[in-house]
Amino acid sequence: MSGLMNGKRGLIMGVANDHSIAWGIAKTLHQHGAELAFTYQGDALHKRVKPLAESVGSSFLMPCDVEDIASVDAVWETVKEKWGTIDFFVHAVGFSDKNELKGRFADNTRENFVRTMVISCFSFAESAKRAAALMPNGGAMVTLTYNGGDRAMPNYNVMGLAKAALESSVRYLAVDFGHQNIRVNAISAGPIRTLAGAGIGDARYMFAFQQKYSPLGRGVSLEDLGGAGLYLCSNLSAGVTGEIHFVDSGYNVIAMPQPEALKA
Ligand code: NAD
Repeated sequence: MSGLMNGKRGLIMGVANDHSIAWGIAKTLHQHGAELAFTYQGDALHKRVKPLAESVGSSFLMPCDVEDIASVDAVWETVKEKWGTIDFFVHAVGFSDKNELKGRFADNTRENFVRTMVISCFSFAESAKRAAALMPNGGAMVTLTYNGGDRAMPNYNVMGLAKAALESSVRYLAVDFGHQNIRVNAISAGPIRTLAGAGIGDARYMFAFQQKYSPLGRGVSLEDLGGAGLYLCSNLSAGVTGEIHFVDSGYNVIAMPQPEALKA
């Protein structure tokens, strides 16, 4: 343990199971000394998240459905009552109707557009404001995004729009909270097999394409994402805010695959 996070406390939002990106980040933060609180979305996930939290020494769990503002408020009230202050907040929450994560974006519905935006984008700003109020000594916030916010990816559809807006939120929140020495950044993860990831049409094609054509020639792991989470939540990234930090084996830098990759 490096002790980079010794004496630091924070809330992790978005663990569903041991494949969750939030869990990869939580584990790494714990290994480096952080004290963690978790939210879980509903009773069905409680039984999965509780043993994971216990394995990193935490019994601080709260239910949270970001569609329900009362439950969001209850989370932050509880954190305030129990801890008073925090040092970091990790937001790894996303949802869109999987029936609309396939086919044409043009066919997406208004209802799912609004719901996707609220859950996958606005929930970050809504909690960031509450988290910042508990960071009198500065702090760090991290959310999770995907390159489908910048480029048209097959089937990603309205999630792409939500990620574009989320990335913009990161820049605006970085400005809002910068004078409080609170840093706000996003990790742009390459495709990884999680519950949310599997909901995207032809997810296997996305994983395979990334592995074949990214400069590193592999997918990303929870450990890769945990390392980036540690960097952005710790003082290692003290001068960094408003950034979209890619952890995607370099896929975002290529315009087209190398000729030999096509022949392989
Ligand atoms: P995951 O399914 O493990 O996590 C998604 C989380 O969102 C779950 O914990 C779920 O409970 C939570 N959530 C959904 N709706 C919610 C609601 N109404 N209230 C509260 N929580 C809610 O999948 P993941 O891949 O770890 O996703 C985490 C984040 O990473 C998401 O923002 C996702 O878009 C992003 N991301 C994923 C990938 C990928 O390939 N898996 C790539 C880039 C970015």
